[in-house]
Amino acid sequence: MPLPQLRHWVFDMDGTLTVAVHDFAAIRRALEIPPQDDILAHLAALPAELAAAKHAWLLAHEQTLAQAARPAPGAVALVRTLHARGCRLGILTRNARPLALITLEAIGLLDCFVVHDVLGRDEAPPKPQPHGLLQLAARWTVAPDALVMVGDFVHDLSCARAAGARSVLVNRSENPWPELTDHYARDCAELQRMLEG
Ligand SMILES: [Mg+2]
Repeated sequence: MPLPQLRHWVFDMDGTLTVAVHDFAAIRRALEIPPQDDILAHLAALPAELAAAKHAWLLAHEQTLAQAARPAPGAVALVRTLHARGCRLGILTRNARPLALITLEAIGLLDCFVVHDVLGRDEAPPKPQPHGLLQLAARWTVAPDALVMVGDFVHDLSCARAAGARSVLVNRSENPWPELTDHYARDCAELQRMLEG
């Protein structure tokens, strides 16, 4: 099915709908996580008490960032267009849901999303695992291949592949992962133009 006809859209948050503000190197330093380690996987492997303390730090740090979030170029217009067309809209983020909601409010898009269609790291196993997309497909009672996953990172594309969904890469000056990408747009404004055909 052509991209403009697809009606179930899932967005990554950081770096996709918002300008990326996470300084992952600084987070790793603050939490004593080795540079090559995945942050959430590292925390999951720690003793419970230590993991809880570091998660609390991460949440506080991210809350400050969420309140200061700025929309990525074209992101607000794209989401508003899809919303106006009656598309189902979801978020799949490695952030926590409460922070994702703060972020959506900060960029003026909270009214376009149903809270239960915003999946954070406590609602689904993190990308690139496909479970979040499969959950949304089940909630919306469509096959996973009816979903479009829009993101700015390889995890978003791999997650789409693993779920059998359509993958869209945005906000990169070039595409480093063509084998995982179904559609590539330089930013959300270009993606919106692709939808207008
Ligand atoms: Mg991202």
